[in-house]
Amino acid sequence: MEERLFSYPPEGAADIVREEQAAVFNPPELEMSLAMNRISLAFLFLHRKQNNYQRRKIITASMSTAGQVIRCKAAVAWESGKPLSMEQVEVAPPQKNEVRIKILFTSLCHTDVYFWDVKGQNPLFPRILGHEAGGIVESVGEGVTDLKQGDHVLPIFTGECKECAHCLSEESNLCNLLRINTDRGEMIHDGKSRFSINGKPIYHFLGTSTFSEYTVVHVGQVAKINPKAPLDKVCVLSCGMSTGFGATVNVAKPKKGQSVAIFGLGAVGLAAAEGARVSGASRIIGVDLNPNRFELAKKFGVTEFVNPKDHNKPVQEVIAEMTGGGVDRSVECTGSVQAMMAAFECVHDGWGVAVLVGVPSKDDAFKTHPVNLLNERTLKGTFFGNYKPRTDIPAVVEKYMNKELELDKFITHTVPFSEINKAFELMVAGEGLRCVIRMGE
Ligand code: NAD
Ligand code: ZN
Repeated sequence: MEERLFSYPPEGAADIVREEQAAVFNPPELEMSLAMNRISLAFLFLHRKQNNYQRRKIITASMSTAGQVIRCKAAVAWESGKPLSMEQVEVAPPQKNEVRIKILFTSLCHTDVYFWDVKGQNPLFPRILGHEAGGIVESVGEGVTDLKQGDHVLPIFTGECKECAHCLSEESNLCNLLRINTDRGEMIHDGKSRFSINGKPIYHFLGTSTFSEYTVVHVGQVAKINPKAPLDKVCVLSCGMSTGFGATVNVAKPKKGQSVAIFGLGAVGLAAAEGARVSGASRIIGVDLNPNRFELAKKFGVTEFVNPKDHNKPVQEVIAEMTGGGVDRSVECTGSVQAMMAAFECVHDGWGVAVLVGVPSKDDAFKTHPVNLLNERTLKGTFFGNYKPRTDIPAVVEKYMNKELELDKFITHTVPFSEINKAFELMVAGEGLRCVIRMGE
């Protein structure tokens, strides 16, 4: 298969030559249809030639860079809360069980912002942030057998080694080796960074560091996807959209006709709302402090809105009154511990299930009266919507390809890489959902 994709002359060329040779000996009455055939075959030939040319370009470039240090642009966070600075960085070749990826598109998730402004998180600088992205494998390190140069991939912030107890369990996506670790700044193979500037190491983030034209990622954190999928769209499945959608369909699991409350109407929350919509929820109640979110949320099937600021009692009481005792399911996508507690306390006793998704500050503590649990409410939490990145994400991409899942409406902004700081400004201002950053521009 690999042979065929990158071979020259392109697949089918020999057939076309044979066809043309045969045509020389054909009687005149066949000339017209043969001429038409020749035209369409010529188009086919050209099309294949173009596709192969593009792939060959990537492969040829990779062949000359494999095993070498690559110098490329990266947006480096030197200190907390300061605009990222565009730098020329050195990216070392991938080591054992690692792949080097040419990132084509990346987007900004709120988790990047927490570790950039480090309010409530451990500081680690200088660092290359970024974890929601799509790209093409440039080269692979020793021991990598299921990925090769030219594969289209999504790097994922939490991994799947396929061997540990969690990876072997149907219930968990928390790989022992590669589960999310926000404090690690180096590769697990040798405890070193693959990024440097004039020999000085720059820390990784979540093992992905996608705000760089090239990055090195553990093979267990890479989902290989359909090469026909548009990377400028499906890159958002690398974190936010899969997380929110999966939190509802894989964890909260609302039954048809049930009510669902979504706390936080950013991209993750609206993906959770999308999950509620496709599950056939009868009411989808959106809760957010930012009133601008409400108009946007209507496009995602949110039927009612609650702004906690508009009420002089706790939002869980407001929701209980609206729903005759509480919602059947709730999904929290804010990162605020107050919202987490409210999301739990607003579910109906007897059967209600609340799912926490937001990333809390490091000193947060969740507090509720134990009787809220005794009253048969369930509290759950999830990373990455319980999807196993390598096993499940290719199929989620196919859902988008088959038009069962909408992604385009989540992408409200795009900017060239040189203007990446604008994406931060938009997120801090609470404007838009996802801003896709076009690398190489
Ligand atoms: P976002 O900033 O786009 O959206 C968050 C929304 O929550 C905003 O609209 C904000 O106004 C609202 N909000 C904040 N505090 C609130 C409160 N007390 N009550 C109601 N609404 C409130 O962020 P996002 O990119 O959609 O991410 C949402 C959260 O999910 C973040 O905490 C992020 O770190 C987390 N996240 C978790 C995972 C995971 O695997 N668990 C993955 C991705 C993102
Ligand atoms: Zn994220």
